[in-house]
Amino acid sequence: MPRGITPRLNICHMYPDLLNLYGDRGNIMAYRMRCLWREIEVAIHQVNIGDSVDFDRMDFIFLGGGSDREQSLMAADLAEKAGALEQAIEGGVPVLAICGGYQLLGKYYKTLTGDIIPGLGILDLYTDGGETRLIGNVAVEVELGGIRQTITGFENHSGRTCLGKLDPLGKVMAGHGNNGRDGMEGARYKNVICSYLHGPLLPKNPFVTDYLIACAVKRKWSIPLKPLDDSIEMSANSVMLKRLLGP
Ligand code: GLN
Repeated sequence: MPRGITPRLNICHMYPDLLNLYGDRGNIMAYRMRCLWREIEVAIHQVNIGDSVDFDRMDFIFLGGGSDREQSLMAADLAEKAGALEQAIEGGVPVLAICGGYQLLGKYYKTLTGDIIPGLGILDLYTDGGETRLIGNVAVEVELGGIRQTITGFENHSGRTCLGKLDPLGKVMAGHGNNGRDGMEGARYKNVICSYLHGPLLPKNPFVTDYLIACAVKRKWSIPLKPLDDSIEMSANSVMLKRLLGP
């Protein structure tokens, strides 16, 4: 990074009014705070239906979750941005997509009532709505950047997601994950992380936040990330893991 210049990351928050279930907005807050604690400034760009966006200028793109109704309201607008988003993803821009946002990066989401909400087809996955909702706290064993940790979060979805040739984010230790059958949770592709975990995910799991920030910082300035004290977050994590997995 050139001397004397304040580092600044551009965060793109997609459809903040429509995709914000179970505190998903907290992901943006956690990402921002962990940047500020390291003296990295952030500019948050909110993108709503009809807004234009230059994904290539972004250092982090976030898509939260939404109800079926909210997903059908924004899906067509997102489809118009599909080519540009795919180009950014292929170029390595870090992306976090939660639940409804995750489903729409895939081929389609077929709701329980049989409506098909077309996805962008960027990721090799599809989602079918199921009779029962998959709800509750989740623990997932994840390996990111050479570090293995069990992350926690909360899921509430009808969709059952099946991955094609794509790595999952991790292995379900408690809860349902992608579909309640194959023991997998979320998906990974390049610098994209997809997950069913609300909670929100990033404040509860600082190691995932730092992975996403580190990807952005490495792409932009090729510098490593300073560690922070995560003892409070990790003690909350261990309380939840004990509750879900036993002592
Ligand atoms: N509407 C989708 C489903 O029920 C996504 C829900 C969510 O984002 N929590 O599967």
